[in-house]
Amino acid sequence: MAKLGTKCVHAGYSPSNGEPRQIPIIQSTTFKYRSGEDMARLFDLEASGFFYTRLQNPTSEHVAAKICALEGGTAAMLTSSGQAAAFMAIFNICSCGDHVVSSSNIYGGTYNLFAVTMKRMGIDFTFVSPDCSDEELEAAFRENTKAVFGETIANPALTVLDIERFAKAAHSHGVPLIIDNTFATPVNCRPLEWGADIVIHSTSKYMDGHAAALGGAIIDGGKFDWMAHASKFPGLTTPDPSYHGLVYADRFGREGAFITKCTVQLMRDFGCTPSPQNSFLLNLGLETLHLRMERHCKNALALAEYLEGHERVSWVNYPSLPRNSSYELAKKYLPNGSCGVVSFGLKGGRAAAGNFMTGLKLASIVTHVADARTCVLHPASTTHRQLSDGELAAAGVGPDMIRFSVGIEDASDIIEDVEQALAQVEP
Ligand SMILES: *Cc1c(COP(=O)(O)O)cnc(C)c1O
Repeated sequence: MAKLGTKCVHAGYSPSNGEPRQIPIIQSTTFKYRSGEDMARLFDLEASGFFYTRLQNPTSEHVAAKICALEGGTAAMLTSSGQAAAFMAIFNICSCGDHVVSSSNIYGGTYNLFAVTMKRMGIDFTFVSPDCSDEELEAAFRENTKAVFGETIANPALTVLDIERFAKAAHSHGVPLIIDNTFATPVNCRPLEWGADIVIHSTSKYMDGHAAALGGAIIDGGKFDWMAHASKFPGLTTPDPSYHGLVYADRFGREGAFITKCTVQLMRDFGCTPSPQNSFLLNLGLETLHLRMERHCKNALALAEYLEGHERVSWVNYPSLPRNSSYELAKKYLPNGSCGVVSFGLKGGRAAAGNFMTGLKLASIVTHVADARTCVLHPASTTHRQLSDGELAAAGVGPDMIRFSVGIEDASDIIEDVEQALAQVEP
């Protein structure tokens, strides 16, 4: 079995004699068939193949297969964004009247999706702190709970989720654990190995890694037994009238039911499909993911250690720092490094954060993280500005928080830039 770095380079595509070495970009909305019957079999899901890029495209399928191999799943699909992946993963098993237990430390966009938009669709969320007690976690479940959701490393709170504990709670209630593994990437953590059932990604971050292509991915671990909890998941265990009464869990089993339904039903109806061009770009990023993650983590640790010793810095949050509250969990789930994102506050609070950011020369202010280039953001005034102070606190985002996404440049240049910008901030 190939190791992870080898999979980053090779998994998902192996050309045969005379075929392109690089994954071909199949820039075609549609695919030609010899007879109407041939195509009808595809529409009835009796044969597999491509017929319309809104559902599946060969370029995207190769890249999905690579991500599937990296996470150790049984089936995977790409989406047009991380937001689409989060929405589809939940909506694939939840309908109006259902309920989800979610960690409160999640990406701001995901929080809005859950607490505002999906609530309008009649799906309710209960948010629990990732370090809540077992009793609090237990109390969050209801009769109609259909899933548990969390982020391996929360963006931007940087708390590490105790995946095994959340998986155990989910399974004791007969529901799957869905993990957003965007910040850790499968290089640093594979949640399926710790009991998670479904993994999602914003591939726009480290996987692409170059701020070039927006995208998302959903990976199924293939272990959750939908039929054992059939009454909770009628979408997977009872006939789908839009496919002549096909039952996904029967026809495609544990390994394939979730992704097949999500593709042929939700992707068909919502159409949040990646473009083949973007999938190609994503694959270029994946080919170096293992090398970049190593450098991101090394640089981030160096910066976090530097900031810890700086007189104008009031706090530093990085899971791989021994004094961090997530350190023990990081040691367990992220032994080779956590991510390239470090957050910190300055003694001068919100105002100092602004001055510091303006003073940076190498690091650029962008609404992005996990880029090869160092970048910086003030969440309270940007990604999380829709949240009240109470919600900000619950999400682990203080008004003074600077989210610093350490790139793969030379660490000494990054630290020098931070040093000169800190020198410009009033003590
Ligand atoms: C960015 C991000 C998302 C959303 O992904 P998009 O690709 O921007 O839609 C979801 N989860 C996490 C952890 C993220 O960092």
